[in-house]
Amino acid sequence: MKIENKAPGKDVTIEDMATKFPLVSKKNDSHNSKFTIAGVEFGGNLIPVFAGPNMVESKELIQDVAINVKNSGAHFLRGGAFKPLTFPYRSVKYNETREQGINWLSNAKDKAGIPVITEVMEEGFVQMISGVADILQIGTRNMQNFPLLTACAKTGKPIMLKRGYGASLRDWLGAAEYIMLEGNEKIILCERGVSVPHTHRASSRFLLDLQVIPAAKELTHLPIVSDPSHATFWRPWVKPMALASVAAGVDGIMLEVHPDPDNSAVDPLQPIDYSDFSKLMVTMDAVAKASYNRHILG
Ligand code: PEP
Ligand code: MN
Repeated sequence: MKIENKAPGKDVTIEDMATKFPLVSKKNDSHNSKFTIAGVEFGGNLIPVFAGPNMVESKELIQDVAINVKNSGAHFLRGGAFKPLTFPYRSVKYNETREQGINWLSNAKDKAGIPVITEVMEEGFVQMISGVADILQIGTRNMQNFPLLTACAKTGKPIMLKRGYGASLRDWLGAAEYIMLEGNEKIILCERGVSVPHTHRASSRFLLDLQVIPAAKELTHLPIVSDPSHATFWRPWVKPMALASVAAGVDGIMLEVHPDPDNSAVDPLQPIDYSDFSKLMVTMDAVAKASYNRHILG
């Protein structure tokens, strides 16, 4: 692959590869990272799925979700206890569960036998969360919080780096380079939608940048996950964008799943229920097989 573009700014140049992000750059066209997290292989034939509620709302809810998504074939349980909520007005329902939520995640992980991914927002909680999480999630709003990235990287825990919703591919790879510079090689990129002017409606808060998947794969050896739930912010669009993500060549899928989506404490417009999740797993598996001879189930 040859990069001709030399324009400075948002676009990646050939000089960037050698000087700005040498560690995350591909050494050759067939260079793709392969690694295992909690027994689940990334970058191979499997396309792992991360599923769960937006927020760890209660001990019972997260345990119920863990059991159900695992039964449908999910590889990781997702859910935030530390949440970057857009508005500061909390209520009993709309509230972070913080340390208690991490303990509930730990319980759900043990009861269901499924590894977990959860968001880290503050350096002061990195150690505590690392004791439970199999993957540390850096949210879109923290993609360039470099002290946080470095603190997470130093734990040696695998890290999912969500793309900043206004970030270029160049900035995203630069942030991943900060993590790899600490000797941490288990990094997963996650496209979760970008903000563009015509998406300023409730039913299209962000635009899922599917094109960044093949674009990133030209440049980096790191696996790339798609999160159609946060991108679309709209339940009916999650299935088509999940299937399109698999067809676009992702290495993993993150999905919000809730037993009672309309009553989700946060972002009730976007989660899918257990039944739709289970059916979607089968359909995504078929697309993965037909498109790339990869698989999601079995
Ligand atoms: C999340 O995954 O719950 C989340 C807050 O995602 P993002 O950082 O992409 O908004
Ligand atoms: Mn969310």
